[in-house]
Amino acid sequence: MEKLQLASHLRERQATMTDGKLRQQLHLSNKGIQYFRQTLQTISDDDIIDSYITCSCCGEKQVKDKRQLDLIIAASNSVDEFFELCNHFSMHASVDNAEQGSIKS
Ligand SMILES: [Zn+2]
Repeated sequence: MEKLQLASHLRERQATMTDGKLRQQLHLSNKGIQYFRQTLQTISDDDIIDSYITCSCCGEKQVKDKRQLDLIIAASNSVDEFFELCNHFSMHASVDNAEQGSIKS
């Protein structure tokens, strides 16, 4: 994929995910959600990709090397494949697992 493609997929994913949450928890109107979606469009490609590979617990990035990240993006055919490859190359545990706390003993 191109970085541009990945970023737009991630924005779409973020919008879909947050949509339900915003409606339920914040009782946002359609106008508010529209505003949120517009704000999402202003986040740079790098920043939205960064946010998906950064651990929410410790702030550590799964892929620290920019060139490696570029290679991973180029090798991915889908967002899921991108996550899979990031997990594969990461020394850090999967960001998802870390969030669920399932790796703590
Ligand atoms: Zn972490």
